[in-house]
Amino acid sequence: MAYIPGSGVVSAGVADLVADVVNRYTGLADASPGMVALEAHLVRWLADVFGLPASGGGILTTGGSMAALSALVAARHTQLGEDFADGTVYVSDQAHASIAKAARIVGFPARAIRIVPSDADARLDLAALRQMIADDRSDGRRPAVVVGTAGTTNLGVLDPLPEIADLAVEEGLWFHVDAAYGGFFQLTERGRALLTGIERADSIVLDAHKGLFLPFGTGCLLVRDVATLQESHAGDEAHYLQDLAVRDLPSFGDLSPELTRDFRGLRLWLPLHLHGVGAFRDALDEKLDLAQHAYDVLASDPNLEVLARPQLTVLGFHAATDDDTRRIIAEVDAEGRAFLSSTLVDGRYVGRICILNHRTDVSRVDEALDAIRRHAAAAG
Ligand SMILES: *Cc1c(COP(=O)(O)O)cnc(C)c1O
Repeated sequence: MAYIPGSGVVSAGVADLVADVVNRYTGLADASPGMVALEAHLVRWLADVFGLPASGGGILTTGGSMAALSALVAARHTQLGEDFADGTVYVSDQAHASIAKAARIVGFPARAIRIVPSDADARLDLAALRQMIADDRSDGRRPAVVVGTAGTTNLGVLDPLPEIADLAVEEGLWFHVDAAYGGFFQLTERGRALLTGIERADSIVLDAHKGLFLPFGTGCLLVRDVATLQESHAGDEAHYLQDLAVRDLPSFGDLSPELTRDFRGLRLWLPLHLHGVGAFRDALDEKLDLAQHAYDVLASDPNLEVLARPQLTVLGFHAATDDDTRRIIAEVDAEGRAFLSSTLVDGRYVGRICILNHRTDVSRVDEALDAIRRHAAAAG
């Protein structure tokens, strides 16, 4: 329950065994049209799940960071062209570090990343964002991209996506949603309600190695208009590939920095077909329930303070002092049964629980909660 836990479903391992043994080349459509079609249909299904239009598309990546990189390449190319040094990218102070890292790799100067404060609920502060955009315009900068996080790494909080989408339209910005942790809750009814507004994004980052319990190395980038990805990533004509005529299928090599790549599609396709989407929905619903259960148990403990009722499956808690909280985490972890981590919220040391492994059931959660309460009682 530390950081954002991974899982690893067995059927995905079987899919990888098959994919690795047949070893088909999915960088270009013509080399393996069947496998490319399978992966392209899967990406299309994901675009539908997130309400993107027919122009939408995307690519399976190794993870959220690589997906963010390609999203920013597409956004930069579309919004700013080749001379982009005066462009600006707005992220909240709760955004994942992968965004600033991607912006740096993409070539933005450090001053291009504009950190917007978050409000008392740890959500991006819209009034502050508006003011920063106005100030930047009057300073001669070109506001280009606004990032909303759908499930922050710190506390699993969602930024106000519909309001950010409105602002992006008003200001002519690219609207990027980092849903690496929270995105797949879209499969549940509660998650879908929380994620309202994501369907208006220009680009969305998802991590199937988080929310779909798949092995590490399984991320996804979805874009509203696949042409933006193609135009910003496709290389010049490569004569050594001229025998591979273009078919009515995407060439993944034109949509990301990679040409040769592992065949990631089967790793999603097989588990989804074998277990059914409903199995994933049920598991995600169970995690949402478990986070509420953890909140109820810890909030009723007089030795503990819980920061907020979780929106998704992360909650932060605090004992009487920072030192007590730090000691509780260290003692729980030292028992070797539950593994928790911590973060800083408004300068305070906060214990953190993130429930996302598909094997984490109520008995595991109760065991962890008991340990936290036991050590909190000893500290108090
Ligand atoms: C995990 C995470 C990332 C980074 O994804 P990787 O798959 O680790 O590269 C980005 N944003 C958020 C919100 C995350 O939780």
